[in-house]
Amino acid sequence: EDTIVQFDNGAIVGNNKKSFVFGPCSVESQEQVDTVAKDLAARGEKFIRGGAFKPRTSPYDFQGLGEEGLQILKNTKDKYGLNVVSEIVNPAHFEMADEYLDVFQIGARNMQNFELLKEAGKTNKPVLLKRGLSATIEEFIYAAEYIHSQGNNNIILCERGIRTYEKATRNTLDISAVPILKQGTHLPVMVDVTHSTGRKDIMLPCAKAALAVGADGVMAEVHPDPSVALSDAGQQMDLNEFDAFYKEIVQAAKLY
Ligand code: PEP
Ligand code: MN
Repeated sequence: EDTIVQFDNGAIVGNNKKSFVFGPCSVESQEQVDTVAKDLAARGEKFIRGGAFKPRTSPYDFQGLGEEGLQILKNTKDKYGLNVVSEIVNPAHFEMADEYLDVFQIGARNMQNFELLKEAGKTNKPVLLKRGLSATIEEFIYAAEYIHSQGNNNIILCERGIRTYEKATRNTLDISAVPILKQGTHLPVMVDVTHSTGRKDIMLPCAKAALAVGADGVMAEVHPDPSVALSDAGQQMDLNEFDAFYKEIVQAAKLY
């Protein structure tokens, strides 16, 4: 049977519904997250994302606000009623993060951090598991099995692009992974069009393609002022760009 991930505010992921997870790359301030949340809540959206623990390539780049960032997300949740999604990078942090978050994200860089996967599996919160930077589909499914094997079946898979020789995009969006994962597992599959493409000019067609091949939802990054973003400044949509993207993706979602 297909897994349907359900939330207290009535939101579901799976079951032929198209779900969206939008929000900034990093949590930077209460005002920043609230600005995006207000926009999302007004559209009737049910989720917001934002990283508090940021796995950055360089140790000299912004590493996230940590627990303070999770508190900001929780404040936003209380204010706007959105489910909050944020990445956990340390197996010891699930207990602490439980009071703040609705979905634990496991990022691409930690897809084969087996101790992290096992701890995520011991929680009863939904886990959004991203595909590793150069993980095969089989390795991705085994990573999900690590979570499942500990008793947590609330898993959402997220294709976020893989590393190839191609330089025109940040990563190569493996669109074929979506129907393969849908055929080979019972889990909902989302597509992150921000980290896969790294290009705002092609996020919309890629998001439409994801829905067309059977994705249960789309993730994308939105920031009130990307020019001053502390991470991924070049690839986050501002609220005007997001408005145009959103209108089209909602129309596209009705087709599938
Ligand atoms: C993110 O979604 O914040 C992120 C860091 O993405 P990924 O793990 O896919 O690189
Ligand atoms: Mn990002």
